[in-house]
Amino acid sequence: MTAHTDTTTAEELENILAAADAASADWAQRTAAERAGALVAIADALDAAAPELVPVAQEETNLPTARLNGELKRTTFQLRLFAEMLADGGYLDARIDHGDAAWPMGARPDIRRVLEPLGPVLVFAASNFPFAFSVLGGDTCSALAAGCSVVVKVHSGHPRLSAAVGRIATDALREAGAPEGLLALVYGTQGGRDALLDPRIKAGAFTGSIPGGRALFDLANSRPEPIPFYGELGSVNPVFVTEAAAAARGPEIVSEFVASFTMGAGQFCTKPGILLVPEASSMVAELSEASRPAPAMLLNERIQSGYTASLEELLKHDAVAPLGGTEDILAFPPAPALSVTTASALLADPEGLITECFGPSALVASYQSEEELLAVARILDGQLTATIQGEDTDAVAPELVRVLAGKAGRVLWNQWPTGVSVTYAQQHGGPYPATTAPTSTSVGTASISRFLRPVAYQGLPAHLLPGALRDENPLGIPQRVNGALAI
Ligand code: NAP
Repeated sequence: MTAHTDTTTAEELENILAAADAASADWAQRTAAERAGALVAIADALDAAAPELVPVAQEETNLPTARLNGELKRTTFQLRLFAEMLADGGYLDARIDHGDAAWPMGARPDIRRVLEPLGPVLVFAASNFPFAFSVLGGDTCSALAAGCSVVVKVHSGHPRLSAAVGRIATDALREAGAPEGLLALVYGTQGGRDALLDPRIKAGAFTGSIPGGRALFDLANSRPEPIPFYGELGSVNPVFVTEAAAAARGPEIVSEFVASFTMGAGQFCTKPGILLVPEASSMVAELSEASRPAPAMLLNERIQSGYTASLEELLKHDAVAPLGGTEDILAFPPAPALSVTTASALLADPEGLITECFGPSALVASYQSEEELLAVARILDGQLTATIQGEDTDAVAPELVRVLAGKAGRVLWNQWPTGVSVTYAQQHGGPYPATTAPTSTSVGTASISRFLRPVAYQGLPAHLLPGALRDENPLGIPQRVNGALAI
């Protein structure tokens, strides 16, 4: 592995890609137990290195120590959860159709299908989660679990942490018997682009901005052999407060909303960026009065300047006014900012007003009727999340849920979208521009399917079939045999 944090040279990149290619072929053949053991070894090594890693992360990202310790725990929990999932084998979606001369559409051959590793994966690490969405974050974890080698394009915001995590993980992999070159780091914007264009890379994964993700998605598709590119980009994460909820719980919703949009200084892709409240309620006044957390440093200067530029742009809009205190909202570090507009303004200029402002800012929009609330839901672009603060008796709720499920990867009821738990049923994704791949998730155990490709074997003798597809089921995994799931 490249030990320095300078830009990767063309020669180093060639060596990395050649090694990743060779390692991928080897890793794909390893047993689930071997892969699981390697993931657990990385988790143990990272946990043990917390006292070394967290201070470096703190220096490079300005995030508080408690948050970084929690994030590292999430990262190692995730590695262990994927290790457990490998033992189960259900993710392989093994299907066995025995030959059947009486099959209604004509004799059916013996055909068997299983998911196999895609090959070397290029991961573009995120800036805002230096552990959980970076070198050993969800993308790398799920690709390694799937049986793929991984090349990580290090995020320029935390190069020293990335190098340390890479070194610790590579040592753990070596000790666990994994092939050399299974995990490698690339530094520098051009190196990331060159790697994405290399024919040995078979998929890309990305977390970051819409322009960055779109540029790389286009690059992946411009290759002679286009490849899947799983980009997790931007989201406004709107919250819809019904009239009944505002009447029943207005002050509670206000304080929970302020806590949610300012969490991590608003640097979450799931930050609720727009709150729709009834004009007839007192919620706008309560929001104006609500106390807000103290200013907090943003991740780096690029994020700070991007944030102040987008907030200034928003405040220039004719239909927008600042809400509550404006002191220091454009300072370094910035105080949390609220702005106010109307639902009719959102409907008149969705492009100008329904846009992500990455940092501690949110827009409050007052609506006149629940019909107008539905109209806003209908014009939304793709979102990672959409939230309803409602009451069980709300007549608008069923239609709102239906419309929002068509727009967002995750629909929430009386909760807040900021946290994204790593679970079996998690869905972190959504239609473009929330992601470039609406059929998949980047968080949770289902994210492994991004790096697997179905292969069907027709008419092969038993000794040539993968273990997952043999009748005697030597791996002891769930198999769908002639349409019926056998566990
Ligand atoms: P970014 O600018 O999109 O960068 C992410 C990664 O992609 C970096 O490694 C960057 O390389 C690379 N990259 C970006 N554009 C590229 C291009 N045209 N060609 C080659 N490589 C390219 O994201 P960021 O720096 O993390 O944050 C900036 C913005 O991203 C934020 O303001 C926010 O809107 C958004 N964001 C979203 C999420 C999310 O979870 N959806 C998370 C974090 C940030 P370099 O580092 O070398 O420039």
